Amino acid sequence: MKKKTSVAIAVTGALIAGAAATGVIFHQHNQSAVAFDEAHTKLAEKVGAVQNERDTAAKDLTEAKAILDRASQPGALAQTASRADLDVAVDRAIDQFAEYDDLLAEPEKALAEAEGDRPFWRGDLDAAAETLLEQFYALSATNTPRISLGPVRPVQAELNRTADIVAIEEKIASTPAAQDSSGSYRPAAEKLATDAGFTVHQISPSATVCGGYPVSDQAAALVCAESGPEIFIIDGRTEATDPYLDAAIRHEIAHQMIFQRCGTANPPEAGDRFEAVTHSYAELYLGADRAQLDATTSDEYTITPESDAAARQIHDAGCAA
Ligand SMILES: [Zn+2]
Repeated sequence: MKKKTSVAIAVTGALIAGAAATGVIFHQHNQSAVAFDEAHTKLAEKVGAVQNERDTAAKDLTEAKAILDRASQPGALAQTASRADLDVAVDRAIDQFAEYDDLLAEPEKALAEAEGDRPFWRGDLDAAAETLLEQFYALSATNTPRISLGPVRPVQAELNRTADIVAIEEKIASTPAAQDSSGSYRPAAEKLATDAGFTVHQISPSATVCGGYPVSDQAAALVCAESGPEIFIIDGRTEATDPYLDAAIRHEIAHQMIFQRCGTANPPEAGDRFEAVTHSYAELYLGADRAQLDATTSDEYTITPESDAAARQIHDAGCAA
């Protein structure tokens, strides 16, 4: 027993002597560990903040790309003026987002290495802390990119506006001409117009509309597209039981839809044949009966492959003006 006790005392004595001799080293190591932890925390917080910005940028980029996808669908964008701005904005957003990866690559690597080493003994904590601080200062000194959705917003608004127009057109196209019990096409045709947001007026052939425009030389109906969604049906020009009345009203609605799309009822896409293009548009997108449209006697209304192509361009590719 006595011998064992002596051994125990001897070991304890050696430990105490060792502790006394290495006390300065332990103290220095503790200081280095504190500095290392502080540097690690600073960098981790900074990286976290930039990662948050990157997450926001990722959402913005996803939104911009979704708007670009939508704008790329045929017929989605009635006026294409803002489309070029959208392309530029999305390309720029893609580049800006890539900058985040470049910015974060080294700091994230330094943090990962530090976290891997930290639980173990290491003799170069000062150097490691220095590396972390260098990354912290470098990251702090760099401006992070800001993805701007500003140029995307007008396109988004135009997409929504176009979707409303398309919904009206589809509703009209899917509603066939119909006669009431007396054989009149008029109630159904008028309902078509009012459902699409138009006001229908009955006027005399001697009347003037659209700020003084005489209706004397007009066939069945007319619109003043630029003054608002109003359709004027002229007394005595077309019998209510004549199926031409339905086609004539769809033609007038076509003027209004082209106006809503392009900001003019006579867009450059229609060339010098906007009445024929309006006929084509009424047939292709508003369900007007071709045989009835062809009954319009004036040449300027005659549907041709070119007028069909222009109507398709206005509807599917959008107006450039
Ligand atoms: Zn017309």
